[in-house]
Amino acid sequence: MSPMIDEKDAVIESIATRMGVPAERGRRFADITSLRVGGAIDWVLSPKNEEQAAALGHDLEQQAIAWRPLGSGSNVLADDGAHHYVIVSLKGLKANPLFDGNRVSVSAGYSLPRLCVDAARHDLSGIEGLNGIPGTVGGALWMNAGAYGQEIGTVVDTVRVARGGRVIEIPGTEVQWNYRHTSFREGEMLLGATLSLHPDDPQKISERMEKAKSQRMATQPHGARSAGCFFKNAPASSVGTGKMIDDLGMKGTRRGGAVVSPKHANFIVTEGEDAKAEDALALAEEIRERVKREHGIDLEYEVELWSSK
Ligand SMILES: Cc1cc2nc3c(=O)[nH]c(=O)nc-3n(C[C@H](O)[C@H](O)[C@H](O)COP(=O)(O)OP(=O)(O)OC[C@H]3O[C@@H](n4cnc5c(N)ncnc54)[C@H](O)[C@@H]3O)c2cc1C
Repeated sequence: MSPMIDEKDAVIESIATRMGVPAERGRRFADITSLRVGGAIDWVLSPKNEEQAAALGHDLEQQAIAWRPLGSGSNVLADDGAHHYVIVSLKGLKANPLFDGNRVSVSAGYSLPRLCVDAARHDLSGIEGLNGIPGTVGGALWMNAGAYGQEIGTVVDTVRVARGGRVIEIPGTEVQWNYRHTSFREGEMLLGATLSLHPDDPQKISERMEKAKSQRMATQPHGARSAGCFFKNAPASSVGTGKMIDDLGMKGTRRGGAVVSPKHANFIVTEGEDAKAEDALALAEEIRERVKREHGIDLEYEVELWSSK
């Protein structure tokens, strides 16, 4: 190992120790993402609360150490190489949400499905369609997660972000909430949010939650290693991307340990111990080429591709 790498490791270790942030080495993306593939990570640092996370991001930046935020890893495909940056895992920011009337304040690491259930218990509506989306509140905010006619961005009152080592609250109206994309800039650490929900009949809320859940169970592979829909729906097409891929007869197509799900053609699932990120990527690129050739459409990735280069 070169002295420079040693020096960088020593700096990271000393920041983590001084701040009391749990730090791990030797993890792989295959351990911490839902696709269960991807290469080695130098360091995973897991701050325990919003203030600590904000200070940690700042200290790493001050030392010019590259880092990336991660929630549950349910929307990331990291390549098989060695990733020489720090993962700041925000899953530890999971204090119980605070309900106040129609509003709820929640930290970024809290589970989105749990929040949906909590909101329903308070007879509050607005996020019941998001119930089956795996992942954290932070991950949902980052890409404006949505399902069954609801998107998280539409109920965000304020977002807490890390700036200059501190927790800063910004109005949700300052953020552009687009289809699976927001205006948060790369490197922005999201610490939490206050959502503004509305009261509704508990029976109706629970019926809508049940409906979303059963639709999900009927149409998506469950228990499988996936990252949800791999590609966005194309604005130029009235046909959903899953249907488009299905019509090309690609369900069940396999490349190494990656398969187009026989249940939902826009899901790539990985199978077996030997599955590699490069299998999933090769399959995804093959889908993109077929769709381009036969429909003239450039599919855009919904899953985030993280490169080690
Ligand atoms: C079976 C299955 C079904 C799915 N269904 C849906 C669906 O219906 N609708 C939908 O929208 N998505 C769906 N997804 C995708 C995924 O669950 C969502 O995108 C989810 O919101 C990601 O949350 P996460 O915590 O796992 O984020 P991660 O995968 O950990 O991260 C995703 C991105 O967000 C960034 N990020 C995460 N946390 C933070 C933070 N605190 N601050 C700054 N950046 C952060 C990461 O850097 C990364 O860029 C599905 C996935 C699976 C596996």
